[in-house]
Formats: sequence, structure tokens, C-alpha cells
Amino acid sequence: MQEKKLKIAIQKSGRLSEDSINLLKRCGVKFNNGLGKLKSEAENFPLEIYFLRDDDIPEYVADGVADVGIVGENVLAEMQKNVAAIENLGFGKCRLSLAVPKNFDYNSVQDFAGKRVATSYPQILSSFLARNNVKADIHTISGSVEIAPSIGLADAICDLVSSGSTLFQNGLREVETVMQSEAVLVSRPNLEAELQKILEKLLFRIKSVKSAKQNKYILLNAPDKELSAIIALLPGIKSPTVMPLAESGWSSVHSVINENDFWEIVESLKNKGAEGILVLSIDQMVG
Ligand code: ATP
Ligand code: MG
Repeated sequence: MQEKKLKIAIQKSGRLSEDSINLLKRCGVKFNNGLGKLKSEAENFPLEIYFLRDDDIPEYVADGVADVGIVGENVLAEMQKNVAAIENLGFGKCRLSLAVPKNFDYNSVQDFAGKRVATSYPQILSSFLARNNVKADIHTISGSVEIAPSIGLADAICDLVSSGSTLFQNGLREVETVMQSEAVLVSRPNLEAELQKILEKLLFRIKSVKSAKQNKYILLNAPDKELSAIIALLPGIKSPTVMPLAESGWSSVHSVINENDFWEIVESLKNKGAEGILVLSIDQMVG
């Protein structure tokens, strides 16, 4: 019997494409993602990859055309399909925000009452406004939302923001965050046992890649008299590895540190006399 394959839908071309492809590749999945391809079979993992528009991914997964997918939480919330987010992926971070023209005298969300708000996210926006007891006039447009106020189509917009530079260039000011978003792995409910097994194997790898990204491998030379103080700064997975250097009075210390504490730890290490500090990225961190 032929082995079943898990079908994964990822964005064909856009902000999530490169990170989605890189994630699968770092999971050790080999496939051809040549230009214009709609579908690809992995060479060394029971996976078929479908390249689709991001808006279509929740529906294709809900309908069983694909079993799992990678999509932004914003699209998932807007489409309201029967799919579940099973793992946050740490990329594609952005927020859906309300923004008004610079000369709009804005005080609170009540100021949207009776106003025309342009957005590509009518579902998310209308439930946000309903939660705040605001009745506004939502204009759904599929793209270039940020120009709607300047062409007289709307009084305000609700759109995705990451740095805010697009808003700024269009004379808009962000005033409310409606939702935070990042890319997530989604799945249709009740996968067959065989597919569920493949998904779990993939998820295990995804988690290893994610924790590797959050950690760095650090090597340094420590004067023996400061060794215990230096070890105290480095938690490691269990505890740091310490090996004597050829030069007496010195040791080499190896450990793993969290990316977020990285600079503070390096400064403290230097203050304790550590030398030759090398920091390496980790490809995978298993278990
Ligand atoms: P498609 O052709 O696949 O429909 P698109 O134009 O709708 O693409 P992109 O602009 O590529 O979509 O954005 C895809 C996703 O990337 C968004 O839904 C969102 O989750 C995420 N994203 C991250 N940062 C931003 C940002 N600054 N602006 C827009 N989307 C962002
Ligand atoms: Mg889209």
C-alpha cells in the first residue's frame, strides 16, 4: 500500500512565503519550490506542498483539499472556517489597527460612530466595534486600503501594520489595535490516524526549529578564578560544559543561552573576565 501523505497549504507569493518555505526546509523537508509551481512533493518526508493565496488557505484546509496550512491569525479570524490553530510559528508578526487621517481629532473608539471605515477585514472589525458598542459604516475593499481616506472613500481605515511606515506615508495615524497576529500552523479537525502521525512528526521538528531560533550556542574562555561566577551566568540545557585550556589557569566554557538575554549575559561575562566569546546560531534543538 502506498504511504499516505500529509497535504500542507502555504502562501504562494507574499509576506509569509519565504518564512514558510524556510521553516519546512529547516525541518529537513526537501522539495522543489520553483517559480510558478502550484504543488510539490517532498522527496524525503510524506508531505505534499500546495502553493496558494493566503486568503484561500483556511477554506481549503476546512474542505479537506489540504490537511494543514500556514496562515496569519488575521486571515484565520476573518474567514471563520472550521480549522484550528495548533502552533504559533513566530513569523509574520503584525497587528490589525484602526488609523485616522492626521487632522482627525481622535479621543476614543467612540469617535468611529457614524464614520466610514475602509478595511479588508470586515468580520474582525465589526466584532471589535460591536464589543465597543460603536456603530460605524464598514466599507470592504480588497487592497490599497491605506489610500481610501485620501481619495474620499472613507474617514478612517482598519488595516495590517508592522512598522507603521505605510500609514505614515499616507498621512495616517494609528489609534487602536484591533488584534495582534502572527503566522500559525492550522489543521482541519479529526485528521485520520495516519495523517495525524505525520503531523506530529512534523510538529516535533517545527518545535525543535523554533526553540533553536530562540537560543544561541556560546563558547568562551574563562579565567579559572572566575569560573564559578561565569558558570552562574550561564544556565545551559543541563549545565555548561567546562574543559581545561592548554594554558593553565584558563578553561573553555560552552553553553546555550536565550536570545532575549543575550546582550546582558555577554556584558556580564566580559565584566567577569571572559575572553574570546563566540556565539553561534543553532539549527535544531531536539528534546
Ligand atoms: P495573497 O496574494 O496570498 O492573497 P496578500 O497580499 O493577501 O497575499 P501579504 O501582504 O503577502 O498578503 O500578507 C500575508 C500575511 O502576512 C498577512 O495576512 C499577515 O498575516 C502577514 N503580515 C505580516 N506583516 C504584515 C504587514 N506589515 N502588512 C501586511 N501583512 C503582514
Ligand atoms: Mg491575501
